Amino acid sequence: PAAAAAPLDLDGNSVAPLTICMIGAGGFIGSHLCEKLMAETRHVVLAVDVYCDKIRHLVDPAPPHLAGRISFHRLNIKNDSRLEGLIKMADLTINLAAICTPADYNTRPLDTIYSNFIDALPVVKYCSENSKRLIHFSTCEVYGKTIGSFLPKDHPLRKEPEFYVLKEDESPCIFGPIVKQRWSYACAKQLIERLIFAEGAENGLEFTIVRPFNWIGPRMDFIPGVDGPSEGVPRVLACFSNNLLRREPLKLVDGGQSQRTFVYIKDAIEAVVLMIENPARANGHIFNVGNPDNEVTVRELAQMMTEVYANVSGEAPLDEPMIDVSSSQFYGEGYDDSDKRIPDMTIINKQLGWNPKTPLKDLLETTLTYQHKTYKEAVKRQMSQASAT
Ligand code: NAD
Repeated sequence: PAAAAAPLDLDGNSVAPLTICMIGAGGFIGSHLCEKLMAETRHVVLAVDVYCDKIRHLVDPAPPHLAGRISFHRLNIKNDSRLEGLIKMADLTINLAAICTPADYNTRPLDTIYSNFIDALPVVKYCSENSKRLIHFSTCEVYGKTIGSFLPKDHPLRKEPEFYVLKEDESPCIFGPIVKQRWSYACAKQLIERLIFAEGAENGLEFTIVRPFNWIGPRMDFIPGVDGPSEGVPRVLACFSNNLLRREPLKLVDGGQSQRTFVYIKDAIEAVVLMIENPARANGHIFNVGNPDNEVTVRELAQMMTEVYANVSGEAPLDEPMIDVSSSQFYGEGYDDSDKRIPDMTIINKQLGWNPKTPLKDLLETTLTYQHKTYKEAVKRQMSQASAT
């Protein structure tokens, strides 16, 4: 297997096997990162999370060929003294743990701020005190709104890249007012980024900050009432998948006019592995990780998903495949949104030579095939039980 060959970093030096403390390893990104590290590297993973459904195939129990390579540590980083020991045992800590679903930002702002800022503090502190490297997951939401969004709607400058392209070391972070509690998440992530950066500057912490731009793929979030709470509102990919599986119209918030770039999880994970294995190129940097070529409005995303799902499932689309809902109906008071998010790729390209590969159409095909296979029968069962009671 690939794992047996002597692996080299981007500068031609051999990569020594690392012990990695991965916090939030049981989530969407964590599950893909664990799979990739197990399949293609020799690194050892200490997987930390409060639940492990998405990595059960790797840890419960670990298959014989992975013996000694991965272990699961069920703990809540809010209040567990084992955390420091695990960070000390590792060469590198990757922190993915967070509340990161937009439906929570304005309805559970305290939990959101605690999770994204307060709960991350001990992780940063233990890494700094013990001179351990940290890869911390932030978000593209730290950019907030584009500069161009404050110009009149048809202003020609809106088309100039400098008014919308988001650059790690140059673009400002532009959030709405405090009453728009949506920004609680972005603001907490911004402050933990600033704290990590300051630990680097003042105490020599070796860090890398990742700003994901809408990574999507299999195992993202949950389908309400099947493997998550029936009243839960996951991120947009799972919301639309849920509507398609139930043959309901897709709900477009505020006309679905926001523009987003979507990147395939497996492309994005390759960037993370490059960061892990090339510390000299990754330390001290903040990296955008996204696919600027995969830009659509949320309305266009809904249209594409409807078409792709029809092919995948063999079911014709509904006559009215989409309906409009207001953000206050869907998300409640205090919602707000970023208008457009195009990642500048200069830094990650120069430092790590990374480029995304998968076009949106292809990644939706793979993902919706997975959603259909994984959930269709369970959704049918759940719907017939619900109508019987
Ligand atoms: P996810 O919700 O699937 O994964 C987060 C994991 O962290 C979950 O398994 C959760 O159980 C765990 N966790 C949360 N709090 C914990 C605690 N106190 N103790 C132990 N475990 C805890 O989300 P994801 O999509 O995998 O995102 C991972 C990181 O990337 C987050 O920090 C998120 O803000 C960031 N991010 C992701 C995206 C994306 O496109 N997926 C975009 C922007 C930012």
